[in-house]
Amino acid sequence: MSWTASLSLVLALSTGSAMALVGPEDIGANNGMTTVHGCFGDEHGNLYGGIFQVPMDDEVREFIDAMNVANQGLDDNRVDLVFVGDGYTAGEMAQYHTDVNGIVDSLYQYEPFTSYQSYFRVTAVEVVSNESGVDNDPNQGVSRDTALDMQYWCSGIERLLCVNVGKAYTAAAAADDIDQVVAIANSSKYGGAGYPGNNLGTAAGQNGAAADIAIHELGHSLGDLADEYTYGGPMTYTGPELGPVDVSIYNRQEQLDQDRKWHYWMDANQSGFDGPISTFEGGNYSEFGVFRPSNNSMMRALGRPFNLVSAEQLLKEIYREVSPIDSGTGDGALISRGGTVGVTPMQPLNHNLSIYWYLDNVFQIDLFGATLVDTDDLTLGSGEHELKVVVVDETNWVRDEAMREQFMSETRTYTIRALPCAPDLIEDGTLNFLDLSRFIVLYGDGDLSVDFNGDGSLNFLDVSAYLTLFAQGCP
Ligand SMILES: [Zn+2]
Repeated sequence: MSWTASLSLVLALSTGSAMALVGPEDIGANNGMTTVHGCFGDEHGNLYGGIFQVPMDDEVREFIDAMNVANQGLDDNRVDLVFVGDGYTAGEMAQYHTDVNGIVDSLYQYEPFTSYQSYFRVTAVEVVSNESGVDNDPNQGVSRDTALDMQYWCSGIERLLCVNVGKAYTAAAAADDIDQVVAIANSSKYGGAGYPGNNLGTAAGQNGAAADIAIHELGHSLGDLADEYTYGGPMTYTGPELGPVDVSIYNRQEQLDQDRKWHYWMDANQSGFDGPISTFEGGNYSEFGVFRPSNNSMMRALGRPFNLVSAEQLLKEIYREVSPIDSGTGDGALISRGGTVGVTPMQPLNHNLSIYWYLDNVFQIDLFGATLVDTDDLTLGSGEHELKVVVVDETNWVRDEAMREQFMSETRTYTIRALPCAPDLIEDGTLNFLDLSRFIVLYGDGDLSVDFNGDGSLNFLDVSAYLTLFAQGCP
């Protein structure tokens, strides 16, 4: 199946089954402030902008925190992208869904999202506004009555597209689960913003470049990635090492010598990603004193691929929400001999996850990759045995093996109970003359443990029953 075909399937399933209708709701005035990213492309797609303060009430943060706590128990095993729309009237819902599909379509054109699109669930919540369009579009001073109070010219910046975060989350709560919220405006005017602390981004619904901004903002909000462009800060950065994985004060040699940041990615170059990886001076709003991993990635210019350093981090965040085993026999299950054990792994588009089986800690090469194991096919003596399955994503887009072990690997352990084999009287796992000798001794002693026909006495019928079982053998 091509990715476009599976994309329409994903959308048909997710937006079709998860639609919800909510009306405007007010949860308090915005008195406080929050930090947003506003990153915009020039005519060449090169990004500029930076970090801005916009209003957001503290009550909203408490509300979102409470919602996140409530969602922690949900185990849908997908990254939930929840769209909410603003400035769409009841008659404009078809346009809203077209706009959502357009942005998701753009997202899935960029790796790692292309290959990992089945790890996402998209829900488009239908939010009805009284008026069509949003504030300050096309010009400052235009005011409209809309459900989520979206507006251009936020903090005096034309392209900075803000939303009432509390109202956006109240609307998004109609979805089954929320990992990232995207608020889209019924507008073709260029703009957007990312609220990294709130896992929220905004985008114009009908502007193709704005869809790219939404993807860049997802780099901030999902991957905690830094901007790799050089405008807006001090010309030379002189502070301590930076937090995000995709910027560093250490140059190539220092990273290699001191095992810093992306030292294990040096010179990597893979199709689908910006490369090769090295250290390029300039990033995080400064021209000097900061290095970025590749020359011109999505965190620096729109329409560009992410680099491998960023992709590895995005996969880590995706795997925080998604376990490698999607469904199957539960961890710790007790299986009777003859029963089956199965696992269904997640399925990236470009490779299968690896499936390793171990019986009593011995790797079973014949079962490598198997999703279903019939315990009758295993060589089992009597007693209890441990069957273990390890499912791991061995993609070469990840080189941090500790991270792979922690986030991209899942182990389930089962106990198989093999009933003892009745004629194996000395319990050594095989039938031979030692068992026959033991039978004769026990029979001679009048030991009712060899009352094989179960009639309460020992006689020739027990000899006959024992020899029949002995002839049948043990599994
Ligand atoms: Zn940015």
